[in-house]
Amino acid sequence: MENRQQLLRLLNLIDGKGYKAYKDLAGVYALGDFTLYLDYIQGDPFASPSRIRVRVGQDKAAWPQDLYSSKIRRVALEDFLARRVARAIAGLGPRRRGTGKSGLITIDSGGQEILPRTAMVVTPEYVEARLSVGLPARGRTISGREAADMLLGDLPRIVEAGLLCRRPHDAEAARHHVAVAEDQEALREQLAPAGLVAFVGNGSILPRRSGVSQLPMPAAQAVPFEAPPSLEVELEAPHAGKVRGMGIPKGITLIVGGGFHGKSTLLRALERGVYNHVPGDGRERVVTVADAVKIRAEDGRRVEKVDISPFINNLPFGQDTTSFSTEDASGSTSQAANIIEALEVGTSLLLLDEDTSATNFMIRDERMQRLVAKEKEPITPFIDRVRQLKEMGVSTIIVVGGSGDYFDVADTVIMMDAYRPRDVTGQAKEIAGQLVTNRREEGGEFGGVHHRVPLRESFNPSRRGKTKIKAHGVDEITFGYEDIDLAYVEQLVDPSQTRAIGDIIRYLAERYCDNRRTLRELINMVLQDIEAKGLDVISPFYGQHPGDYACPRAQEIAAAINRLRTLRVRLK
Ligand code: ADP
Ligand code: MG
Repeated sequence: MENRQQLLRLLNLIDGKGYKAYKDLAGVYALGDFTLYLDYIQGDPFASPSRIRVRVGQDKAAWPQDLYSSKIRRVALEDFLARRVARAIAGLGPRRRGTGKSGLITIDSGGQEILPRTAMVVTPEYVEARLSVGLPARGRTISGREAADMLLGDLPRIVEAGLLCRRPHDAEAARHHVAVAEDQEALREQLAPAGLVAFVGNGSILPRRSGVSQLPMPAAQAVPFEAPPSLEVELEAPHAGKVRGMGIPKGITLIVGGGFHGKSTLLRALERGVYNHVPGDGRERVVTVADAVKIRAEDGRRVEKVDISPFINNLPFGQDTTSFSTEDASGSTSQAANIIEALEVGTSLLLLDEDTSATNFMIRDERMQRLVAKEKEPITPFIDRVRQLKEMGVSTIIVVGGSGDYFDVADTVIMMDAYRPRDVTGQAKEIAGQLVTNRREEGGEFGGVHHRVPLRESFNPSRRGKTKIKAHGVDEITFGYEDIDLAYVEQLVDPSQTRAIGDIIRYLAERYCDNRRTLRELINMVLQDIEAKGLDVISPFYGQHPGDYACPRAQEIAAAINRLRTLRVRLK
């Protein structure tokens, strides 16, 4: 291991040379309080930035052990520290130090969710931050002095402000962050035993600042959530103690109400309730069962041999729907495929919003049934399957403002009224009794879930002989020659999850795909590896830290594979 003097000497030596000479810096340096790992050095000031790590022993960092004594605590402390490092970086002020990315320092610190991520590592021995930096240059000439200021000036300040627990206040702030995450985990775990699929704590702020921001709507404008008395339950959070709020029971729940009264806002909060949120987000006490899946229409997507026959059969010209493939699904076939694929990977709760559903998929009323005979209508609407799903252990929460036919099948009806929920189950049932519809139930048996075996030939991440996997925000992954469109996979919330999924597909294909294992088995094998060895395992880079992954769920990994246009499967 080199020291500060040696790093300075090296920087002096390469000062004024061509940028490539920076490569000589690769190595490990003991810099007083911390160890600096220069793992990967960029080849050019405009290329992707260099990857470095700063590591501080716990003897100096001194984070109390109980803050990382379980998985959820460790994840929350890592999240806390990544954000703290990001603030420390911002606190340095503007740091342009020349051309291209010169002077840039970043850490992948995440959005409103607390996710397992690779930007920070906490162990009983050390804390380690993984940073990207742009080594300074003028033109393409090394600025040794600027580099020294950056590595020996900025970094120690970042370590000091970001990684060390110095005052009692630091430990308290971390403890709060950890407690808020641990409470959410505990609330979520209480759902199933309590017969619930979701919980929305009183006082929660569900609306966001805008359609493009996940920050909470300012308190002055937002109406805090308040449970209707008949649906109010009390759960126990390990830190906050007793927490009251609305419990949504297993079964079939409708969210009704006039336009603009907050229905979709509630559903969107439930969609994201599969994740834990940072303190101050407003959704810290909104939890949904961890395997909940948002279902929507997604016309244009590809579908590969999915058994959509519970929803669609008798297509014109006798197309088989027990193994349905298309390059260009319609609204209803895409929505059917989305449901069947969710069942295949595993889910206990479907979330649907009429705003993003195909009408003919959701309902066919009495009059339409009379006009168009069942023999001429391939679609068995969701309303006729939702109870069978419930019997299979899959609950549904649906936003409907337009069709009262759903009153017949609902167990719980929640009306949003000026952003306040009311339990109108009794009224809805009464109305259903008074205004009996003569619509006939359609469809027979639902049938079982068919598992598919992805074939190896499906996955080719290379383009012109080089591996090409790249995530674009949360909406797209380039995989070899293919672009996987994820714009409608709404529970993919962090670009770093998308990045992880790109590499997970490659990892799963190389390591486990053997033309025998099912999609679900393959995904579970990767997730087990991640659980055992950490999210770093999916990285193809050796000697270069993967500091910008966040962990996705099985559901979103499956969603990406299902949207890969080269996917080929065999039915199990
Ligand atoms: P709906 O689906 O019932 O038509 P939305 O959920 O889309 O209604 O909400 C309509 C508008 O009201 C949105 O702009 C949303 O941000 C806002 N809104 C939703 N819930 C609240 C709330 N609790 N307090 C204040 N504004 C809210
Ligand atoms: Mg809406």
